[in-house]
Parts: sequence; structure tokens; C-alpha cells
Amino acid sequence: MKLDVDVLRYLSKDDFRVLTAVEMGMRNHEIVPSDLIDRIASLKHGGTYKVLKNLLKHKLLHHDSSKYDGFRLTYLGYDFLAIKTMVNRGVFTAVGRQIGVGKESDIFEVAREDGTVMAMKLHRLGRTSFRAVKSKRDYLRHRSSYNWLYLSRLAALKEFAFMKALEEHGFPVPNAVDCNRHCVVMSLIQGYPLVQVKQLQNPETVFDTIIGLIVRLAEHGLIHCDFNEFNIMIDDDEKVTMIDFPQMVSVSHRNAQMYFDRDIECIFKFFGKRFNMSFEEQSDDIDGSEVDEDESSRPSFSSITKTAGFLDKELAASGFTRKDQDDIEKFIEGDAGDDVSDDEHESGLCQTNIKGFDSLHLDQKEPTSSCNEEEQGDENQHSPEAGLTGNPESQNSSNEEEDNQNADENDAELMKSLAKQRRRTMAAARRGRKSVASRNSYKDKGGKSSNNSKIQKQLSSW
Ligand code: ADP
Ligand code: MG
Repeated sequence: MKLDVDVLRYLSKDDFRVLTAVEMGMRNHEIVPSDLIDRIASLKHGGTYKVLKNLLKHKLLHHDSSKYDGFRLTYLGYDFLAIKTMVNRGVFTAVGRQIGVGKESDIFEVAREDGTVMAMKLHRLGRTSFRAVKSKRDYLRHRSSYNWLYLSRLAALKEFAFMKALEEHGFPVPNAVDCNRHCVVMSLIQGYPLVQVKQLQNPETVFDTIIGLIVRLAEHGLIHCDFNEFNIMIDDDEKVTMIDFPQMVSVSHRNAQMYFDRDIECIFKFFGKRFNMSFEEQSDDIDGSEVDEDESSRPSFSSITKTAGFLDKELAASGFTRKDQDDIEKFIEGDAGDDVSDDEHESGLCQTNIKGFDSLHLDQKEPTSSCNEEEQGDENQHSPEAGLTGNPESQNSSNEEEDNQNADENDAELMKSLAKQRRRTMAAARRGRKSVASRNSYKDKGGKSSNNSKIQKQLSSW
């Protein structure tokens, strides 16, 4: 699914009002009846039907008339709601290229007005593109009260809360900037996933740092559960940053030992294979932490002094509750950490779609509705009870694919005219400027690069 933010700029207040009405209706309807949408949106001059048609055309909604006439949000619709909230909050003003495809997320560059580039992760629990998810699907078949959008929102909130807490305890993680719905904004890491690194100057040092991190996490009461070459970023100075936290568990989890051993094993295996490291002479004092050796020189879970609940205060401060933790754990249990080192995954990594930043010139004001939808949407973020319910299977992407096919024809014309308009504006902007924004501006990751500010200025002429 493509995130075409061009469309976002052409959506009116009424469009957002109706989209938000559908989101609100989904709190207790899997498919929200059309007349309920009309009542919640209560557009001043009527016309909800026309707006619904427009939203459907842009694939922001899915239409279902099997039991009654109704609609539900698609992931794209949910993306737009989150992005609009972020823009309204002043978190970023433009969306750039896609920089990563995780097994359950899409990661994009986003930029502030001043050119600072950050990363935006959109969680997509239940996406079918990777084999690993299929087992989750089977698992969820027995849990009809869960909904993909609700789970994605929980995953985002959990990731945000853990990232913030870990940062406060000095772990090398991205800086957690903000979170709304299924979207997390964080600092952009300048580097590459370890899986893409073929050579290291100091593989032993990097290895020790990474194993030291797993041990230190356990001392803080946590296990990453997906600690592998896909979730470790490394920069040119071989500095390590860990990412991807929705599946973390406490050391008091009943499978804690197994998850811990698996994280350790992944790293040993990877370094053994990729950097030909042999582990017989591994020190028992890893990264300053005293770790016992077992026969294979792996740090042993039982010998680590673990403090469960170390980060509880920080997690609560981010709005991540015990119930959230329970809900999401039910989903991941028995299945945590299944990043797979297969071709399928590797080919999906860092899919690039070289494109400049699309500035989002949205109305900065919240819609002044009787129900104040945006705010309620934000409240929703912190209230698990207000989460979405419904049958997860109804959210599967095959429905969306069907939608996509039907809507493709209608969309073609609109897309063509949008693309034309965009080209015209870009050309006009270029005529007024000496230098054209670099297509490789992503190289200035994280910094306040001059190139990026050019892109910003250029696009703010929209
Ligand atoms: P998933 O949970 O779907 O596996 P990840 O958080 O692991 O998603 O992100 C997928 C990929 O996106 C990573 O392997 C990395 O290439 C890229 N990525 C994620 N977060 C960042 C970030 N903060 N800075 C730069 N790249 C990132
Ligand atoms: Mg990952």
C-alpha cells in the first residue's frame, strides 16, 4: 500500500470530519453504519454520502454492505488521521521517502519546517507481506475481540513508552518525539541495519557492546525479544543503536529465559557467521557487566541481577498501562520476535522510493465540531477501553486489495491530474531557485541540512 500524501493535501475539513466520525464509530462497530457516520459527523450542510464516496475513492475507507450499509477505516485512512494530528501538533510539516519496511511497519522520513529530518514509524499489525505474520493470523483467529487498528495503536504506544524510558536510562535508542494512534515519530538514526553491514573495523567491540546491551536490559527488568541484525543500527563510527520495541517483555514473563537465550543466540550466530568470530575465548566480563559463563560462554540469564519494574514509572508517564501491556502480550505471546533472516525479509528492507518531501499544507486549526473529533481521537490514544473492537479478520488486506482494484479506475484520472498539478508547481518552484533539492538529501539524516531546508522551502510554496 502506498502512502500518497498528495491526497492528504486535497482533503477538506468535511472529509476529515467524516473520516474521524468513522474512527469514532469503530469504537463499538466493526463496520460503522452509514447513518451513524452521518449523525456523528453532523455536517452543517449535509452531504455525508458524497464525502464518503470521495474517501472511498481515495481508499481511506472500506465499504461493506454484506449485513448493512457501512464503512470501516483502512490503514491508509488511519495513516491520514495520525499524520494530520502530528502536523496540527507541529511535530512535522512534510513527509518524505520511505526508508524502511519492517515486518509490521512502514518507516518514512518526515521533516520539520527548519529542515530537521526524523523517522515516522506507522505500525501495521496483521500485514500479510511476511510469512511470520501468518502464524499471528492463525493465532488471532481465536481472539475475535482484537482489531488490527487497536493492536497497531497499542504497539505504537508501547514502542513510544519503552523508547522514552530506555532513553532516560541511558540506552542507545532513537529519541522518542511523539506518538499518535499507530504512528511513532522518533529521531532518524544515521546508519544502517547491521544485516546490511558486511565488514566491521572492530567486530569484537561491537559484539561486546551488543551482548552488554542485552545483559543491561535484563538488569533493568527487560528482554527485547527481537534482538537481531535487523533491529540493530550501526553508524560509520560503529556506534550501535537498538530499535523496534513493541515486543519487549519483562524478565518476570514466564518465557523470559527462553527469550533472553534466543536474543543472545541470535547475536552469537550472526557474528559467528558474518564476521567469522569464534567464541571459545569469549571473556566472562562483557561490557563491564559480570556475567557467568556456561559451557558455550553465553551470558546466563539466571546469574543476572534483575530488577523487574525498573521502568514502570516512565512507562506509566507515557500513558502505557498494565492493561495495554496485557492486551499486547496476549497477541505476541508464544510468537515474540520473529524477524526472519530469509530472502523475503531482506528484499523488503529499506525499500526506497526516492522522492522529495511532500509538504503538508494542512489547516493548522482543529476542526471546530460539536464533538471535537480530533481531540477525542487523541484521548483515544490513552484510553484502552476506547480502543477499537471487532473481528481482526475483517481487517485483512485482501479486502483492501479488492477495494484497491475497484477504486483504481476512478483514481487513475484524479491521480493524473494531481501529478500534473504537482509537476507544474515543482517546475515553478525550481524556476524561482538556483539549486534543485538533492535526491540524496537523506544522507543528511538527522541534521539541519541545507539541502533539506531547500526542499522544505521549495515545497512550502504549495
Ligand atoms: P519492524 O517493527 O516492522 O521490524 P523496525 O522498527 O525494525 O520495524 O524498522 C524497520 C526498518 O526501518 C529498520 O530495519 C531500519 O532500516 C528502518 N528504521 C526504523 N527506525 C529507524 C530510525 N529511527 N532511523 C532510521 N531508520 C530506521
Ligand atoms: Mg524490526
